[in-house]
Amino acid sequence: MIKKKKETADITPSVSSPTSNFIRDIVIEDLNAKKYDSRVHTRFPPEPNGYLHIGHAKSICLNFGIANEFGGLCNLRFDDTNPTKEESEYVESIKSDVTWLGFNWDDRLFYASDYFEQMYQYAVQLINDGKAYVCDLSADEIREYRGTLTQPGKDSPYRTRPVKENIDLFERMRAGEFKDGSRVLRAKIDMASGNLNMRDPVIYRILHATHHRTGEKWCIYPMYDFAHCLSDSIEGITHSVCTLEFEDHRPLYDWFLNELKVYHPQQIEFARLNLSYTVLSKRKLVEIVDKGFVNGWDDPRMPTIAGLRRRGYTPKAIRIFCERIGVAKRDSTVDIALLEYCIREHLNKCVPRVMAVLRPLRVIIDNYPETLVEEMEAINNPEDPGMGTRKVPFSRTLYIERDDFREDPPKEFYRLAPGREVRLRYAYFIKCIGVVKDEQTGEVLELHCTYDPATRGGDAPDGRKVKATLHWVSAEQSITAEVRLFNHLFVKADPNDIESGSNFTDYLNPDSMEVLTSCRLEPGLEGAAPGSRYQFERLGYFCADSVNYTDKAYVFNRTVTLRDTWAKIEKTQK
Ligand code: ATP
Ligand code: MG
Repeated sequence: MIKKKKETADITPSVSSPTSNFIRDIVIEDLNAKKYDSRVHTRFPPEPNGYLHIGHAKSICLNFGIANEFGGLCNLRFDDTNPTKEESEYVESIKSDVTWLGFNWDDRLFYASDYFEQMYQYAVQLINDGKAYVCDLSADEIREYRGTLTQPGKDSPYRTRPVKENIDLFERMRAGEFKDGSRVLRAKIDMASGNLNMRDPVIYRILHATHHRTGEKWCIYPMYDFAHCLSDSIEGITHSVCTLEFEDHRPLYDWFLNELKVYHPQQIEFARLNLSYTVLSKRKLVEIVDKGFVNGWDDPRMPTIAGLRRRGYTPKAIRIFCERIGVAKRDSTVDIALLEYCIREHLNKCVPRVMAVLRPLRVIIDNYPETLVEEMEAINNPEDPGMGTRKVPFSRTLYIERDDFREDPPKEFYRLAPGREVRLRYAYFIKCIGVVKDEQTGEVLELHCTYDPATRGGDAPDGRKVKATLHWVSAEQSITAEVRLFNHLFVKADPNDIESGSNFTDYLNPDSMEVLTSCRLEPGLEGAAPGSRYQFERLGYFCADSVNYTDKAYVFNRTVTLRDTWAKIEKTQK
């Protein structure tokens, strides 16, 4: 049986000290200045409207990473202020993904919805201070009145409503007297501000919808900008880290907290992760799941944490990736080859190597005894002698990879061909002496070979060389499996760059998955646990599927090939 190494539980990336970045520098500066009583308290605030993706992993590693590094705390907070798009399924998946990535919020699991009453009271305070008003304009009218980047907005006719009337209307909004969209509560800031977000933004809207936690209790809901800064304030967050698109919202973040005279964290923005050949927008991921372009959120082709996990990614490889891409102030796209490089690097050291044949071609060793089965000694991982060796059965009838034989070998093809000798890994030299073909189709059905007993597990005593070493399995002793190979989800490096008249789904790769159903694995893989990872020699890293997996039907997903395209990219970039 193959010894599997236990996945290490430590959460430190491979580098000994974390790579510095500007957010870390701000935290260090604040600690030196004893700002926030020398506390560090961050949060990861997902909206439960989809599964987490690799972009979220960057934010998770950053927020939890900074808290861990400086002896601080990091909260998990669900930003659940939009009941129409949010579901408990997403809440559960997010919790399990954060945990799987190796982070821990202890007892600090929060929901923005827990603060609805408090937020309501803050809104009342703004009204009483003459800083908010109920507006009866429709959504379209509000947009019209807002003006543009080059033109100032116009005051709403309801802007001067007396405080008493505003309080009365806001209470009645809460009581459910009005229809969706008929009224909103707006902050009274500045309709001529150069920042559109400051032109009397909406802070409450009417929405008669069932909330996944508060049920029917509320029919008015706070908007993101109002809820987010207050949630941060209520939780005593010190550094509120978010992505760049919120930079223009920061004046509003500060305005609410200043006007309400409450504890005031600082918002810091960083560039979101973009990855080539995929999309990292929940809206788009929801669309490809709902329209059935993939088989659910955990389809191994998805850039979701659940998809990457099912595909065979390790939490550590994802953390190392997040460390390597760094944290910047400018948007950029990371080559997906870097992500693949990180998982390859990690698996290379820690998973056992085995032999598997994806497209089997039968080979009969004519001079090998009919009933003999030998146990050949194979090394589990040359990178780690501690992983030991195992026995692999060898017999008269074997399978090799169809690609490893050519009847008319082209010039650079050194593998098996008529009359040619190659090495079978951990076994013997074999020489092809016959080809059996289907008379009608010409398809090669099986090969006949001879073996040289003197080459067992090593070289030929007479010093003759072979140019190729092939993997193989014994026909009778091997087990059958289905193996799924994956390509990029999109054919276009930037699927967000959409030509007019197209949709991003037009760029989905029709060949993103190839299913091979008659693969043969060495018998040691019998009983391999779902989720267990291997290198199939010469073919890549594979992971036993954790969904379509039973004791009888083995399904393996290819995590990544052995080909390192990243090294090449790095070289050309230098
Ligand atoms: P999406 O655009 O996919 O819908 P979002 O920003 O709406 O993402 P949230 O659930 O609000 O998703 O995100 C939670 C946190 O993760 C936020 O702080 C957000 O800034 C961060 N985040 C989301 N996408 C990325 C990304 N691609 N790279 C880095 N951080 C991200
Ligand atoms: Mg969001």
